[in-house]
Amino acid sequence: MAETKRTKVLIIGSGPAGYTAGVYASRAMLNPILVQGIEPGGQLTTTTEVENWPGDTEVQGPDLMIRMQDHAKAMGCDIIGDIITSVDFSNRPFVAQSDSGTEYVADAIILATGARAKWLGLPSEEKFKGFGVSACATCDGFFYRGQEIVVIGGGNTAVEEALFLTNFASKVTLVHRRDELRAEKILIDRLMKNPKIEPLWFHELVEVYGGDSPLGVEGVKVKHTKTGELTDIQAKGVFVAIGHAPANELVRDVLETHMGGYVVTKPDSTETSIPGVFAAGDLTDYKYRQAVTSAGMGCMAALEAERFIAETESDTTAETIISAVAE
Ligand code: FAD
Ligand code: NAP
Repeated sequence: MAETKRTKVLIIGSGPAGYTAGVYASRAMLNPILVQGIEPGGQLTTTTEVENWPGDTEVQGPDLMIRMQDHAKAMGCDIIGDIITSVDFSNRPFVAQSDSGTEYVADAIILATGARAKWLGLPSEEKFKGFGVSACATCDGFFYRGQEIVVIGGGNTAVEEALFLTNFASKVTLVHRRDELRAEKILIDRLMKNPKIEPLWFHELVEVYGGDSPLGVEGVKVKHTKTGELTDIQAKGVFVAIGHAPANELVRDVLETHMGGYVVTKPDSTETSIPGVFAAGDLTDYKYRQAVTSAGMGCMAALEAERFIAETESDTTAETIISAVAE
């Protein structure tokens, strides 16, 4: 028979938002359960150096996330390797179903499901995914030692991926649809100084091509965004780094979203339109999307969940006293 776990606070997601909520909810004696999802530790586990986490001049993303996990656990958070597949938000306590078959019953829920890499949606991109096309340089860069690589995008992720890939590749072409990068200045500076990286401005990817047996990338066709001229680039690897979209599958039909799917929260708050449901981190943040801002929102969500539970518990107690007196 399926197991049922009862908690005051269920935290869904194990990025900086989820683990910070875990620390605060544990210290509020709420005995939270945190379900990690398919990517324990979240997006930072897909990168190397993190240089803007306060207190660490430089820390490896996966190490930082292990430290956050250990911190939440040490405070008493019950961390479970499972994936939430659906949540019934229509009644309280909320009931969440999971991949393992366990049912989680919670008075309050903190949604911290973060964001996932976006894809261009080209059929050839889909065909070669995992066979030369990737969205994670840290995961797959090692396979391209001495090879030529193409990175698509112009944000922090694209620039960091391009820089990281120079550890392996003989050449990295950064293909961007404009001639201006939206990455931080310090990263742009490193990119421009790196002799292995060649930016290709005003171009977009139109096709990835390669062999069928074995399946593998041999190059890409890119198009000039102004002239339409097509250019061929020989490459064994293509890294798509065109941004991230909020992982809102659990809630997009029940909660209001905006700006491309980000969950709407009340001003200066993590409260959503459903009382007792809070959203934190990249799931709700279309603007900053940083580890530290996600952690900050995780803290807010836990404090708001604590207040919500205290208020609903005192309401219930008051109702019980009133009905007992009336009887
Ligand atoms: P995420 O880190 O996205 O974590 C989401 C969590 O939700 C995951 O654990 C996932 O498994 C879980 N989840 C999703 N769906 C479910 C489900 N159905 N059930 C259970 N769990 C679920 N920011 C910085 O400040 N500095 C950096 O140097 C930096 N470098 C970056 C490098 C890269 C390559 C990338 C991609 C991002 C980087 N960022 C950086 C951004 C930063 O990683 C994010 O802002 C931050 O991780 C968001 O935290 P989060 O907790 O909201 O969600
Ligand atoms: P991003 O900042 O949204 O940048 C996406 C890039 O991809 C943009 O340059 C965009 O071009 C381009 N792009 C989008 N759609 C495209 C398409 N269909 N075809 C071609 N190009 C396309 O995303 P990100 O770089 O993944 O960063 C996401 C968040 O994580 C940001 O907040 C970022 O600061 C954070 N992050 C931080 C760090 C760090 O602090 N070191 C590292 C990585 C990520 P345009 O510029 O023309 O729009």
